[in-house]
Amino acid sequence: MKIKAAVVPEAKSPFVIDEIELDEPRENEVLVRIVSTGLCHTDLVARMGFLPMPLPAVLGHEGAGIVEKVGSQVTKVKAGDHVATSFTSCGTCRMCRSGKPSWCALFKPLNFGGRRADGSTTMKKGGKTVYGSFFGQSTHASHAIVNERSVVKVPTDVPLEILSPLGCGIQTGAGAVINTLKAYPGSELAIFGIGSVGLSAIMAARVAGCTRIIALDIVEERLNLAKDFGATHTLNSMKVNAVEEIQKMTGGGIEFTLECTGNPKVLRQAVDCLMLGGTCGLIGVAPMGVEASLDMQTLLDARTVRGVIEGDCNPDLFIPQLIDLYKQGKFPFDKLIKFYSLEEINEAAEDSEKGKTLKPVLKP
Ligand SMILES: [Zn+2]
Ligand SMILES: [Zn+2]
Repeated sequence: MKIKAAVVPEAKSPFVIDEIELDEPRENEVLVRIVSTGLCHTDLVARMGFLPMPLPAVLGHEGAGIVEKVGSQVTKVKAGDHVATSFTSCGTCRMCRSGKPSWCALFKPLNFGGRRADGSTTMKKGGKTVYGSFFGQSTHASHAIVNERSVVKVPTDVPLEILSPLGCGIQTGAGAVINTLKAYPGSELAIFGIGSVGLSAIMAARVAGCTRIIALDIVEERLNLAKDFGATHTLNSMKVNAVEEIQKMTGGGIEFTLECTGNPKVLRQAVDCLMLGGTCGLIGVAPMGVEASLDMQTLLDARTVRGVIEGDCNPDLFIPQLIDLYKQGKFPFDKLIKFYSLEEINEAAEDSEKGKTLKPVLKP
């Protein structure tokens, strides 16, 4: 079928809206009419050519839409169902079998390989391959062929247009707090870097019952926003010594921190301000090869640094839980969203890079 899509023709090029040919869904695939699709930092990294994703390609890995057709083996959803889309995984490796699909041994080839697991591709333009299957989906388009493992059935009483960002950025921030750190009522958390992921972590920290939620950033506007979303304290790390301030506030160190910037100096702060036995969750993505220095004595005192992929989520379980929390008014993630048409994708990318928009969501 013919679809409308935002294509990245080559590395560092702007997105180009084009009409391309989409394959039929195979036995384990779902054809989804996309109602909304998020623009995430990882799309922009792939557009720059910093991921193994081959180009030209259609990106997009946070979709929401309506199922139009399913392959013969698909049992999870049927035509007409509302779905959100998330990352894909193999389902058979040791990590997938132990319920940790975000740690899948084949995560990179399946999510950034540009092809289905069998090596075939899903899209063409004038007889030439356009790579897809980005995170098992490629949703910057009017329609997407989505691997069954990447679709999550969602309730029909919540507007589909707001649900797309749950599939990556929002579940990452919320999952880091709930699944990885396992924050509990009365626990204390400091979040370094306040974008859509950091704000999702703040909302989740409130849900978890954290009594002290410290937001750190270098932009005053972001710190005010953090307060609106539930931070109990804010620190501008350009103006104060973040480590000393946190130690002062908490009487020696904090139990949980989250690093959401990908900056090695910020990671150092997020570890140095931990209490004995504390854990730092590392979410921020640094370019390949970036090293960080840590004081070994600090780590020896029972402190942990833990990398977090996709919030350690099982999206089939976690996304419906986040939607329930939203319905109860406890997780107002829709406040992060600004809508754009698919045609405005380059403007959305620019606004996101400049920090003008927290979570751009495109409507094809
Ligand atoms: Zn796997
Ligand atoms: Zn993402």
